Amino acid sequence: MVAAPVEDPTHAHDALDALIVPQLDALRAKQRWRSVRAHAPGLIDVAGNDYLGLSRHPELIARACAWAQRHGAGSRASRLVSGTSAELLALEARLATFKGTEAALLFASGYQLNSSVLPALFRLAPTGSTPLIFTDKLNHASMHAGCTGLAQIRFRHNDLAHLDELLQAHPGPLRFVITESVFSMDGDRADVPALAALAARHGAFVYLDEAHATGVLGPQGRGLACTAGHAVPIVMGTLGKALGGAGAYVAGSRMLIDWLINRCAGFIYSTAPAPASFGALDAALDLVPGMDAERTRLVQISDALRTCLRERGIDTLQSSTQIVPAVLGDEAATLAAAERLREAGLLAIAIRPPTVPTGSARLRFALSAALSDAQVECLLSSVRNCL
Ligand SMILES: *Cc1c(COP(=O)(O)O)cnc(C)c1O
Repeated sequence: MVAAPVEDPTHAHDALDALIVPQLDALRAKQRWRSVRAHAPGLIDVAGNDYLGLSRHPELIARACAWAQRHGAGSRASRLVSGTSAELLALEARLATFKGTEAALLFASGYQLNSSVLPALFRLAPTGSTPLIFTDKLNHASMHAGCTGLAQIRFRHNDLAHLDELLQAHPGPLRFVITESVFSMDGDRADVPALAALAARHGAFVYLDEAHATGVLGPQGRGLACTAGHAVPIVMGTLGKALGGAGAYVAGSRMLIDWLINRCAGFIYSTAPAPASFGALDAALDLVPGMDAERTRLVQISDALRTCLRERGIDTLQSSTQIVPAVLGDEAATLAAAERLREAGLLAIAIRPPTVPTGSARLRFALSAALSDAQVECLLSSVRNCL
């Protein structure tokens, strides 16, 4: 079919809108309409990922301002064009130490990182061969973006026996197992040491996304990769969640990072992140290792919420972290529940397909150690009253 010429070029917007409107109507009919609406100030945020409350920490804000003062509001160009400050290189070295690796590299966002680092890794396949990629069924959208153009061999969520079978059945010269340490919608964890051992047995490389584990799990909040010794060669995480700032890191050997500097389009062709975000990370790295009290509080309040939901017969899946799903199943019912909680003063978010599998619409609670006792009490009583 050939599109009709736009009769009046001043109405190109209308012609495009005519294609969009029926598609949006279809989303609305399926209860899948999304909007970015300004919410009432004063709501208790149990939806965001500021797990340690660092986004409002005075030291992060001060250090972000200081880096902006010294280096500017923007970074002016790709780091390969405008160079990089000695301070930034030192920051990446500190981050690598935190992760227990030789080197680390910073990106503007986790989505950008996953969608460009994975293709750079796939280029390591010997000429004439295609890399094989084994992916958990619940992997984040940014990892799917990174796997575009390749067939994913998907294993059942966290099912290592299934992964073992698939690795057995699909030999190849270059294979990656791509997964998360904490799953963003279910709040459960991968058994990272067992997964890494399994992959190593098959000669496959693990790519681990620690977006929700960084700062929260593992010794001093270093994530779960370090619980597997050096068996995870590629690990990434984000700076916008527990670390309270913005951006993302990938950590591994010096050679891995050199490869990415040379071959990762999302690094090479993108303006470096704003200096303020580096400042926030600099402060977060000072604070996070010493925040065991906050991590303990997070465990306690997450347990309390899970208990409260289970008492009401609500499925919280295999959640064992600060991310607590309350699976209601039906999309309209989930939206209505989120609305009732909003009226009770809580910002809780309804997560619907296609973000989660059909029939598993849910409220996704994401807790923060910065919630006061009174706020936690309000959350628990509202859950009792509204769900
Ligand atoms: C949030 C998230 C990302 C993306 O990170 P951003 O910095 O927000 O772009 C990647 N992976 C997982 C598992 C996430 O939850």
